[in-house]
Amino acid sequence: MIEGSCHCGLICLEIETAPTTVTDCNCSICRCYGTLWAYYSPGSVRIRSKGEETHTYMCNDHMLAFHRCPNCGCVTHWAATDPALDRMGVNARLLPAEIVETATIRRFDGASTFSYRD
Ligand SMILES: [Zn+2]
Repeated sequence: MIEGSCHCGLICLEIETAPTTVTDCNCSICRCYGTLWAYYSPGSVRIRSKGEETHTYMCNDHMLAFHRCPNCGCVTHWAATDPALDRMGVNARLLPAEIVETATIRRFDGASTFSYRD
């Protein structure tokens, strides 16, 4: 079990296995957030709040919701609004530092793949 949390500790992430690859995407939203994404099936990730639930931001025709801590503002994960999509992204920046240090960083050219608009 790997645990991570936002900076203030309000939102906790639990995943079953450490990611071996994390994705550095250059699309407009990922550049703004500075996230590194580890992809999982939603069933293998637990996200708990010790208080208020996460706030969300949606773009890309509202297919993905980007969740952030309501207190410290750290982006914790994204979730697909379509429950049939068996995929979500956890911000690996919130996991223990040695996980990102040892994972392979995959550069993804999201800027050429997605055309985000609000
Ligand atoms: Zn926080």
